[in-house]
Amino acid sequence: MTLVDFPNSSSAAPRIERVRHELKRRVLTVAAIERLTPGMLRISFGGEDLSDFVSLGADDHVKIFIPTEAGEPERRDYTPRRYDNASRSLVIDFAVHEAGPATQWALEARLGDTLEIGGPRGSAIISADVKHWLLIGDETALPAIGRRIEEAGPDQRITSIVAISDMDDRQVFETAADVKTLWACRPLDQAADPSALLALVKDIELQPETFLWIAAEASVTRALRAHLVDERGHPLSWTKAAGYWVIGKADAHEKF
Ligand SMILES: Cc1cc2nc3c(=O)[nH]c(=O)nc-3n(C[C@H](O)[C@H](O)[C@H](O)COP(=O)(O)OP(=O)(O)OC[C@H]3O[C@@H](n4cnc5c(N)ncnc54)[C@H](O)[C@@H]3O)c2cc1C
Repeated sequence: MTLVDFPNSSSAAPRIERVRHELKRRVLTVAAIERLTPGMLRISFGGEDLSDFVSLGADDHVKIFIPTEAGEPERRDYTPRRYDNASRSLVIDFAVHEAGPATQWALEARLGDTLEIGGPRGSAIISADVKHWLLIGDETALPAIGRRIEEAGPDQRITSIVAISDMDDRQVFETAADVKTLWACRPLDQAADPSALLALVKDIELQPETFLWIAAEASVTRALRAHLVDERGHPLSWTKAAGYWVIGKADAHEKF
């Protein structure tokens, strides 16, 4: 599991409900492929196995299994960006980068190809009482950030700060919430350098009872968390942070 559970240490800490799901493997079929932005490939999957797919949290993840010649598949974590049981559909957004097996698979995917997925194993549902959010991340976090924004209600105020490598990679989300989106543009080969995100984060006013969610390359997440929690005193019980990947390492994520 990638994401870190911080104990709810203060009485005012938000409720986080953890729901376990039956661990199931599903075989899906590629139903549509769209180059959403230059750096993001959106693949829509279909298949009867999606009739009982469940993902209750915006930052849930599924394992995707990439077949290899060696036999044992490669496994990578991806966010269920959107799904619909009735139409048996699941959307996954793949950030395009120096391609490992998962990215390579997505780049080469054709209509009708199949992909096996497992999970989500569980969902962490943050109480709807949380009204203020600060969502920070890179391209790999954008699916979870987009989903959170789209699922938010009209009484929620969200600031998102996302690192991208091209202003054309900005995305627009349909939402009832009051959203302010900031984009930190930096070359992809600087994706493990926190400077671009930190420069924007430093000017952000942190209101009390703001839920802080961070996911990016692990050292970037660590630097952002150090700034916001250690230096500026944002409570850990209002924070969820994860390294969604680690520079130079395949299939890596970091727990904090
Ligand atoms: C909970 C969770 C949810 C995630 N959701 C998504 C999602 O919805 N969409 C998505 O695109 N990614 C997502 N990721 C990140 C994704 O799992 C990793 O980027 C993964 O390493 C990609 O697999 P790969 O086979 O392409 O590369 P790997 O074989 O794992 O890595 C190959 C090389 O690529 C580099 N690399 C890996 N990721 C990146 C990157 N993003 N940018 C630049 N270089 C990179 C590594 O340093 C490594 O040297 C998620 C990760 C987690 C933990």
